Amino acid sequence: MKGSGMRFTVAIDGPAAAGKGTISRAVAAHFGFGHLDTGLLYRAVGAKGGDPAAAAAGLEPADLERGDLRSAEAGQAASRVAALPEVRAALVEFQRRFARREGGAVLDGRDIGTVICPEAEVKLFVTASDEERARRRWLELAAKGGVQSEAEVLADLRERDRRDREREAAPLRPAPDALLLDTTELTIDAAVAKAIKAIELRQAQGRE
Ligand code: C5P
Repeated sequence: MKGSGMRFTVAIDGPAAAGKGTISRAVAAHFGFGHLDTGLLYRAVGAKGGDPAAAAAGLEPADLERGDLRSAEAGQAASRVAALPEVRAALVEFQRRFARREGGAVLDGRDIGTVICPEAEVKLFVTASDEERARRRWLELAAKGGVQSEAEVLADLRERDRRDREREAAPLRPAPDALLLDTTELTIDAAVAKAIKAIELRQAQGRE
């Protein structure tokens, strides 16, 4: 189902380091869909400094290329600016346009299934235990020379999740019709296989 003119949106939400990025990239590659990591938009706004609303309104592709966007500090800064309704509003159109691009799209974030694309064909809410998420993120950061301990990474993730869940603007929560995917006990391959299955099922329904 890769034909031109096809529009198909996969919304993947969930807390930090649950496996959204890995699953999204694999799913996009499998189906030939485009992939947008929406967390990068908020990280770039936080990293720009100055007035966050102006930074969001003036966001340019080059801002997403900065090398420091994946750090824990950039994550914290992102979750602070992400609580501001003006920042979120400035980023909505870009995300919606991407979601309806020809050839299919996967967007991963916190509010894709609830606010950005409530009409997405497939919605997944990816979770994992706090400890497992901290372990994975710690391994990822350590490979890049990160200096935080696993306990510090855990505290960092919990603080960010709490802020994301408790904010008023587009809080982190599953859409009512999202499929919950707990990856705590799953290998990457198994988690990706479940996501692919859910999408294939939906595509088959669309053809009926
Ligand atoms: O996904 P990632 O960890 O890169 O996201 C960084 C931060 O950006 C999150 O903690 C959250 O505050 C914010 N974010 C958001 N909505 C999204 C994606 C990310 O509020 N759709």
